[in-house]
Amino acid sequence: MRASIEVADIFRAAGPAYRAANAGHLSLAQLKVMSAIEHCRTAALGGHVEACENCGQWRIAYNSCRNRHCPKCQGAAARTWLAEREADLLPLGHFHVVFTLPAEIADIAFQNKALVYDLLFRAASETMLTIAADPRHLGARIGITAVLHTWGSAMTHHPHVHMIVPGGGIAPDASRWISSQPAFLLPVRVVGKLFRRLFLTRLVALRDADRLAFFGSLAHLTERRAFLRHLAPVQGTRWVVYAKAPFAGPEAVLAYLSRYTHRVAISNSRLMAFDETSVTFRYKDYRRDGADRQ
Ligand SMILES: [Zn+2]
Ligand SMILES: [Zn+2]
Repeated sequence: MRASIEVADIFRAAGPAYRAANAGHLSLAQLKVMSAIEHCRTAALGGHVEACENCGQWRIAYNSCRNRHCPKCQGAAARTWLAEREADLLPLGHFHVVFTLPAEIADIAFQNKALVYDLLFRAASETMLTIAADPRHLGARIGITAVLHTWGSAMTHHPHVHMIVPGGGIAPDASRWISSQPAFLLPVRVVGKLFRRLFLTRLVALRDADRLAFFGSLAHLTERRAFLRHLAPVQGTRWVVYAKAPFAGPEAVLAYLSRYTHRVAISNSRLMAFDETSVTFRYKDYRRDGADRQ
């Protein structure tokens, strides 16, 4: 069994020398992350007493840093997130729905992250709510848990939204529950079409309001005609929406999403050893099959 090593141990041991050697090359943000990880759950951040009201047992717990990059905090945050999402699940079938942006749009999103990711979320959820409410389809008000992913498994920019959607919804007059068919929620072609229309209309509106910025190879898109020409190929193509009842249940999808949502550069469990000169950690080489490497 390996001794349990944490990123914090390595930072505390080698951090001061590293900072001295790289003075001027580390950003304030990087220094803040290092400091947060080094002090997480130590006396430096203060503490509190946790006590059981029933048996009277108590212990002192040090406060955590809650930094987005801290492996200790994100591991705990992922477990909390997963438990809360699992508690949201209803005792019935769920669907896994994925909305993906075409490559031409992903390029624009990359240079306008906040606005275009927000638009992706809104257009996708509005599409689902609208078509589900349509009496020709489900005719009910549905609930959605949605998670934004901006990177694909090949580590390329690939913005898409995952949704967990219960197989049914509440009738418009709130009188009853309306169930979907077990293997069919909504027609994906209809969903894809409305998503494309809502998304593109609003993207053009953002450009017309001068809210989008373009750099480098996309710099010419500030011109309206060039922008519309850039969008032309995706106006006529099918925007693929994936919607299926997950084979291993919604829990498996949520577990996958929680790992992505709370991902840090390296989790503590991958660290194997460290000394004055080197750190040994496990990694997976996705270009080769299976086994973990060091
Ligand atoms: Zn922390
Ligand atoms: Zn994803």
